[in-house]
Amino acid sequence: PGTLHVIATPIGNLGDLSPRALDTLRAVSAICAEDTRHTRQMLAHYGLERPLVALHEHNEEQLAEKLVARLQAGESLGLVSDAGTPLVSDPGFRLVRAARAAGIAVSPVPGACAFVAALSVAGLPSDRLVFEGFLPAKGNARRERLAPLATETRTLAFYESAHRIEETLADMATIFGGQRRAVIARELTKLFETVLDGTLEALQARVAADPNQRKGEFVVLVAGAGEDEDARIVEGRRLYAKLGEHLP
Ligand code: SAM
Repeated sequence: PGTLHVIATPIGNLGDLSPRALDTLRAVSAICAEDTRHTRQMLAHYGLERPLVALHEHNEEQLAEKLVARLQAGESLGLVSDAGTPLVSDPGFRLVRAARAAGIAVSPVPGACAFVAALSVAGLPSDRLVFEGFLPAKGNARRERLAPLATETRTLAFYESAHRIEETLADMATIFGGQRRAVIARELTKLFETVLDGTLEALQARVAADPNQRKGEFVVLVAGAGEDEDARIVEGRRLYAKLGEHLP
């Protein structure tokens, strides 16, 4: 049987496609792509023209079977998404699951991923992380998703679009507290790359005041709960020890 190669593509800067990704895109007999027009354009930048198969949310389940049959017959296939790493807030999970279930080798060609890139420059605790992807678009559903995360101690990672960044920051400030630290990574690897850090309150005000800060694609990272609580516990212990000095 062939191999399913899961290939990361750039999240903006076309210089970020790896040499091995290029070799693999050249070698496979077809490339499954989320938006074939978009991928055709991207490939053209590298001087490549390859057979493409549209694989998106709506046809993935039914197409997976046919693609697995092609893999079993000996073809090797590539899987890409519009940007970054497939399956990360992008299609591909059903195809990968079906291929693995059929005993097909699934091999990654790793590369860009927006939340990892954001984490690498944020200066927030990065040893433990919760990736939450996109929040629900509707206000109530979004707040319901955020509420149980208020006590999460690990760093939180979200994807957000230009339409909702302002509302999302407002909800986060309300639910997590305005003093919680956060980082907004916008347009990473692109011309208007901006990484802002500060309290949620300050970031919300900054984004509300400047329309340019509401343009493009965003990763929002929020520090976990507890940094302030830790400080209060340390202070409590210090006071307790001091008090002890004065007690019989
Ligand atoms: N598969 C992609 C990855 O590996 O990061 C994510 C795909 S998801 C449909 C697209 C979202 O990722 C955007 O709405 C934004 O939140 C985030 N994103 C993608 N590219 C970005 C960039 N250059 N800068 C900041 N965020 C980005």
